[in-house]
Amino acid sequence: MKSSLAVVAIGGNSLIKDKTKIAMHDQYEAVKETAVYIADLIENGLDLIITHGNGPQVGFIYRRGELAQHELPLVPLDICGADTQGAIGYMIEKALLNELRKRGVKKEICALVTMALVDRDDPSFKNPTKPIGSFLSREEALANKEKYGWDVVEDAGRGFRRVVPSPIPREIIELDVIRTLVEKGYVLIATGGGGIPVVRNDSGDLEAVEAVIDKDRASSLLATKLGADIFIISTSVDGAYLNFGEKDQTPLGRANLSDIRKYLEEGHFKPGSMKPKIESIIEFLEGGGSRAIITSPENLLEAVKGESGTTIVK
Ligand code: ADP
Ligand code: MG
Repeated sequence: MKSSLAVVAIGGNSLIKDKTKIAMHDQYEAVKETAVYIADLIENGLDLIITHGNGPQVGFIYRRGELAQHELPLVPLDICGADTQGAIGYMIEKALLNELRKRGVKKEICALVTMALVDRDDPSFKNPTKPIGSFLSREEALANKEKYGWDVVEDAGRGFRRVVPSPIPREIIELDVIRTLVEKGYVLIATGGGGIPVVRNDSGDLEAVEAVIDKDRASSLLATKLGADIFIISTSVDGAYLNFGEKDQTPLGRANLSDIRKYLEEGHFKPGSMKPKIESIIEFLEGGGSRAIITSPENLLEAVKGESGTTIVK
């Protein structure tokens, strides 16, 4: 029997559970926990591609750069992204290899540095909204605007911050490599942090852009292009809720595409957290996918069996 291919997107919360535990060894401990649940999926016969967020980690690298500016040049965002794909990919790889070995499951795993192509005329370039880096005084913000051409915004009483565009990913540059390796049975970690955003310049070359890509959007694109059977989003809640945060919040067990479009329109899913997940799932289902899941790491296997979490079908 042909086994099923699943793209599993792991949220940043799988690496940082607690804001006071951000050291690399803390993050690795968190990755080890998540690896147990991912190993369950592999043991149950799913072919997997793992994608992951990198918001906090990019923030840390960037902040180190800011603090070291008197001695070393700032790290551009594409390089921050590449750094996190390497570091997080490595942690997932090691934790999962060790977990699978313990269970006597033989699998080769590899983390791939992945770029995502975006449109040069994506509207977000004209209207950057994603805050990154530390809070700045008005003077610092204006100085950096002058020096580096940054877009800066005032953040309600807390000071100024740099904002960057968050364009929609259109293509995964390494798609064929990913497909080939998955067909060979390797477990891949790819498109970390939504992929490193690049554009094609007039001569056709790839060029980095100072932007960040939503990891849920990039994961959905990857799942769609690969024709994955299941798109799974592993996050900090056990599923999507209607009336989230209200007294009458209700877990959403199973829904179809038209239900979910309606709930989205009614405003049940918060921008910047659940909304991009739901939009990514809609893209996947509209693009030919048949099943998508939102759940927490510990419920992954149950959710795949349809016994937990939120399942959205066509
Ligand atoms: P990740 O790091 O996995 O991308 P996010 O923080 O971006 O996680 O998104 C998950 C969060 O979305 C949850 O912790 C929850 O607070 C929030 N959220 C917003 N709307 C909803 C909803 N309707 N149902 C469930 N969670 C929601
Ligand atoms: Mg998120």
